[in-house]
Amino acid sequence: MSSVFDDLVGQEHIIDILKGAVAASRTGSDSQEMTHAWVFTGPPGSGRSSAAIAFAQALICPNKGCGGCNECQSASTGGHPDVEVIRTEGLSIKVEEIRELLTRVAWAPSMGGWRVVVMEDADRLTESAANALLRAIEEPGTRTVWLLCAPTLHDVLPTIRSRCRHLQLRTPSIDAVTQVLIERDNISPTMADFAARVSQGHIGRAKYLATNESVLSNRKTIMQLPLQLGSLTAAFQAAQTLIDLATEEANASSESRDEKEVEKLQEAYGTGATGRGMATGAAKAVKELEKEQKSRSTRLVRDSIDVALLDLATFYRDVMMVQSGNTESMINTDMREQIESYAANSPSHSTLNKINAIMDARENLARNSAPLVTCEALMCQLARK
Ligand SMILES: [Zn+2]
Repeated sequence: MSSVFDDLVGQEHIIDILKGAVAASRTGSDSQEMTHAWVFTGPPGSGRSSAAIAFAQALICPNKGCGGCNECQSASTGGHPDVEVIRTEGLSIKVEEIRELLTRVAWAPSMGGWRVVVMEDADRLTESAANALLRAIEEPGTRTVWLLCAPTLHDVLPTIRSRCRHLQLRTPSIDAVTQVLIERDNISPTMADFAARVSQGHIGRAKYLATNESVLSNRKTIMQLPLQLGSLTAAFQAAQTLIDLATEEANASSESRDEKEVEKLQEAYGTGATGRGMATGAAKAVKELEKEQKSRSTRLVRDSIDVALLDLATFYRDVMMVQSGNTESMINTDMREQIESYAANSPSHSTLNKINAIMDARENLARNSAPLVTCEALMCQLARK
């Protein structure tokens, strides 16, 4: 029988725990296996939010997560009254948002089972938001299950994480990702192997790359940048190219969604409403929505720059491998000749510095540094011999 846990690639160790919890949740007794606060951690792409959502489905599904019933379907698309999925649009989750959430989930679950809250970016909780959440998690005897997701346990406030059961997801192997792309998504073996390798176990990214012509070609352009850093002018140009491509990619994914949201909102206020009050109300709401969309788009651009920087890092990682005599585990095999020639013509001691410079730039961007300036400084460092 198929199950919502089938899509969690390489996570057998936690699937057993989750299935045990689902079984225990049905007995009604307060067993150790089922608890009402969990933290899912794992590197980007390991599927921490997919795991949390699968668990949410299994908790409310009459068949423990069949994937096919109404409950399972509506839970995954955000339409189930007892499953709340919190995706952060901005850079942080504020205390007002948590207070609003707590009022929404204060009622008993409509179907008599569990109410599940999946918080995809618990690392973005502000301190006051986290404290508001803590009080809810501590409340005994509720039927609400909290599933928090974060990159690492350190990203969650100690007071919160000490009350949660922790599940650590693994980065799936490249072979496992390749297999899924071939079998689940009908992607050709050559493309699946390439996408899985360069995405380093990030399933979502691998699929996106393998099924998206323009994303693939943008990546190619970005991977050529290290070979074009002959002068300072070229370094500044490279920074601009990286920002432009990352912005373009981020916008492509958000523009159509933005438009649909505005349309839906206008529809809710009545299209062609002529009454004065109606018009002002709608205009105000659209303005609010556009503000939210802008903050989401800022975040998407930052995420997209981060992906580009991680891609760039794999170039220097391959160079370092070649320089230390290991040519077996190359990630960017499609650039083998260029990487080998770069490795031969550049001092090996500078390669590690370049990788570190990329990681520093990512950290600075995560702390809200200005993207273009950060990338310009980085490219100048990468341009050094
Ligand atoms: Zn089901």
